[in-house]
Amino acid sequence: MLIRDLLSRTRPAISFEIFPPKPETPIETVFTTVAGLKELSPDFISVTYGAGGSSRDRTVEIASAVQNRWGLVALAHLTCMGSSPAEVEKVMEDLEGEGVCNVLAMRGDPRPEGGESHFHHASDLIRHIRRGHFRDFSLGAAAYPEGHPESASPEEDLVHLKEKVDAGADFLITQLFFDNEIFFRFMERIRSMGIAVPVMAGIMPVLNARQIGRIVSLCGASIPPRFARIMSRYEQTPEALAEAGMAYATEQIIDLLSWGADGIHLYTMNRPDVAKRIMESISTVRRTLNGGSPGN
Ligand code: FAD
Repeated sequence: MLIRDLLSRTRPAISFEIFPPKPETPIETVFTTVAGLKELSPDFISVTYGAGGSSRDRTVEIASAVQNRWGLVALAHLTCMGSSPAEVEKVMEDLEGEGVCNVLAMRGDPRPEGGESHFHHASDLIRHIRRGHFRDFSLGAAAYPEGHPESASPEEDLVHLKEKVDAGADFLITQLFFDNEIFFRFMERIRSMGIAVPVMAGIMPVLNARQIGRIVSLCGASIPPRFARIMSRYEQTPEALAEAGMAYATEQIIDLLSWGADGIHLYTMNRPDVAKRIMESISTVRRTLNGGSPGN
């Protein structure tokens, strides 16, 4: 199923993000993750993309399994930095061959080795796909409620976000954030700019102290005082920190759903047990909002 069609009738939607295991790890490990996530009735599962050859192939293989082995809707991530149009088309062709017609189209991070790239921005990739054989795919794009770390200002980033939607993105998935107020202000701004596509709010449960440092340095998410207090209080007690991290994510989700978010995209970190705990905590909320069963 095309995600644009799914999102036109399923609000709020719930999606899970998984990543391919490292090349030296058997691919079956992630299939155990998918089996666990399927029990939670997600509306779709997204599979991240690494630019390297084996990682790229694994994204296609896992997205295909999500769809063909588990009967779920799959979204394959795709980045274009350093790739030629032919390379991008090969991945799209492989996806199409497996019946996966949903792609999260991104630029990707600049490669350490640098070099020229045919595509400079995600909007170039989206425009390219919309012009060619794969034009009927449902395409998503990445959005940054606090602005992309490279952009001069959040306002400038919003201009480029609009370019991605104008180029043909059907829906957006946001970078993770810990302060819902930032997301609410972001939504007001993009709606006032005429960006009308559904937006999935990205939520990551923090399970250990190491993760917080990595998140802040990679994506620059701001840490609200309430969250900082919880994290520093339980820093030395891993189990308490994980429990508090899941509770914080659950609270964020309930607040986002009450506000009327189009959907929640949970960064599962390949931990179905964590996703399960969070989904169980919101099962009645989800049923109430879906007017019946989860995933309805
Ligand atoms: P763009 O939209 O191209 O934006 C990149 C920067 O360029 C921004 O600062 C933007 O403001 C600026 N810009 C855009 N257009 C223009 C223009 N015309 N002129 C000047 N400046 C411009 N990475 C992976 O490698 N694999 C993944 O699977 C992956 N999944 C992700 C999933 C989500 C939900 C998110 C939020 C991010 C993900 N990323 C992934 C990370 C992403 O690749 C990086 O954040 C990357 O740096 C930017 O990609 P983009 O598609 O947002 O880029």
